[in-house]
Order: sequence, then structure tokens, then C-alpha cells
Amino acid sequence: MIKYVNSMVTFSEFPNEISLCINISQCPCHCPGCHSSYLAEDIGEPLGELTLHKLITENKGITCVGFMGGDIEPKSVNALAQYIKTEYNLKVGWYSGRNHLAPEIDLQYFDYVKLGPYVEERGGLDNPNTNQVMLEIDNTCGRSITKDITSYFWHKSN
Ligand code: SF4
Repeated sequence: MIKYVNSMVTFSEFPNEISLCINISQCPCHCPGCHSSYLAEDIGEPLGELTLHKLITENKGITCVGFMGGDIEPKSVNALAQYIKTEYNLKVGWYSGRNHLAPEIDLQYFDYVKLGPYVEERGGLDNPNTNQVMLEIDNTCGRSITKDITSYFWHKSN
């Protein structure tokens, strides 16, 4: 089971969403210059459905749940995303440090996926030179259609 260190409600990680962002530990990506290197450690509490239910009900008014990390166990991220989609009328986002989407992820349970490691000289999502990509997923027509919305973050920083 994946573990989380803390959570916070933010307005900037996913476009036009009030997001409960959950920081997941045991990150296997080890990006040089990582801004949150403590997330590589085996720390925090297990993140299962009961904990997720508690976090969601404690944060009324959110529109999205964001999993910040979880590359150690994409299968668990996918299962928790499915749980959110089944039990709550909320959007789901995932920040992955990998360049490619893990095969365990079923995009029908996601609304946003960020892909790509942090590369110091390229910057994060808000840098037009970034290597990272934010995808928006449209599942309304019965299949998952992805759209690159990374430039949304560049407009925000201008
Ligand atoms: S994916 Fe994120 S948390 Fe993990 S090493 Fe890279 S920058 Fe740090």
C-alpha cells in the first residue's frame, strides 16, 4: 500500500480546480534537484480507501483529488482513483515523475495526469522550457481522449 506524508488544499496544481493534493512518499524517481527529496523516504501513513474517505470528508468544497507521486505503486494509485470516481463526484489528478504512463493506470478514472521527471535546467510546469507535460483527459464519449494543456501553466506565470 502506498503511504502519504501530508495533504493540502491548493488552487494551482490542476487548472480551475480546488484540489486536495496528497503527497505520497517512497518516490522512486530520484530526480536531481528534487524540491521534495524527503518524499523518497519510506515515511508517512498508509493511504487506503478509509483514509482517503476521511481526507475527502474533512475537506468539503474540493473539486479534485490530486495524487502527488505514487510511481512506486501505480496499481494502488489507479485503484484509489477508481474508488474516488465510484464514491464521489470529484475529479482526479496524478503527478507522475515518469516520462511514460504506467500500464497499470486506466485513464477512465483520471481527469489530469502530469508526466515527466523534474529536470532542474528545464524547470517545472510553469516554465515554457519544461520537459514535463500536463494532460487533461476527456472521458465523456466512452473513451479517454488526452489533450496537452501544459501551456495553461505558462499563461498563469505571465
Ligand atoms: S518525481 Fe517529484 S518527488 Fe519524485 S524525485 Fe522527482 S521531483 Fe522529487
